[in-house]
Amino acid sequence: MAERMDESRIERVKQRALGRWTEILRSLGVEERILQRRNGPCPLCGGTDRFQYTDKFGQGNYYCRHCGPGGGFKLLQAVLHEDFASVLRRVEACVGTGGMAPPRDAAAPSPERMRRLMQRLWDGARPLQPGDPADRYLRARGLELASPPATLRCHPALGYYEPGHDSRPRLLGTYPALLARIQRPDGQVVSLHRTWVLDGAKAPVPEPRKVLCPGIQGAAVHLYPATDELAVAEGIETALAVHLATGRPVWAALAAGNLERLWLPQGVRRLDIWADNDADGGFEGQASAYALARRLVREAGTATALDVQVMVPRTPGQDWADVWQAQARERALKAA
Ligand SMILES: [Zn+2]
Repeated sequence: MAERMDESRIERVKQRALGRWTEILRSLGVEERILQRRNGPCPLCGGTDRFQYTDKFGQGNYYCRHCGPGGGFKLLQAVLHEDFASVLRRVEACVGTGGMAPPRDAAAPSPERMRRLMQRLWDGARPLQPGDPADRYLRARGLELASPPATLRCHPALGYYEPGHDSRPRLLGTYPALLARIQRPDGQVVSLHRTWVLDGAKAPVPEPRKVLCPGIQGAAVHLYPATDELAVAEGIETALAVHLATGRPVWAALAAGNLERLWLPQGVRRLDIWADNDADGGFEGQASAYALARRLVREAGTATALDVQVMVPRTPGQDWADVWQAQARERALKAA
């Protein structure tokens, strides 16, 4: 039987493999030293330190200073000395019926359904207004926004579901929620972040903050649009505090792992990374901030093409939203 290698088949494999490439490459025999995200010899063209695996877009991405950028398919072809059709078959076997996590489309809703769900939630929410539940939640953190970002909305009553015993969702309660759009640099909305709130605090649910569809892969909440300057932080509250303190355009990456993978828009010349101080834990906040700084300076070619700074709060366990809130308290005491 002739093997079909049409666009839709390739597209399907690409979609299923997205965000899982490191695991795929490893399982197909790519050596650990290649996947380390450190400079080393290029599997395609040799040398000693010209190559780095980055997985920047979740496509098994790499960059070689000599032969340029590429993705998981190209890397596999070089390592296994096989043609595209052959590595496509291998990757297909991995993501299709292999022992890895089931493909998205088996149980999870289709991208089209997710897109409609996101639109429905967003349409059911309203821009932030003084005194609405989301605004009260932010205000309780000293975050009084004169012009609330258009990428944030308040949903009056959003169901909170948990997987039940039979893995069907079970409604735990309904609370107001702060919704945030998660976008790629080109503006495409990839997901929504939800913070369930109640009476100026997080709602009493197991995980009051959740991303609607996982795998946001370097996308972010664009709170205030980037100019040639941009500030970034992990949390939405932290990013808003940074904006109030500095007046700068700011984005929230939502998680340390995602901060590290952030996609920067074209034209940004100065980036300030406002890291969380996780010195009381695993230093994850600092590590991802410096990993982002390092990656971007490398990609820019020289340190002068992009001015990157990393700011870390002095106190272990604090983020900049904590610092802002403490200062807001002090200001209120002085004014009293
Ligand atoms: Zn190369």
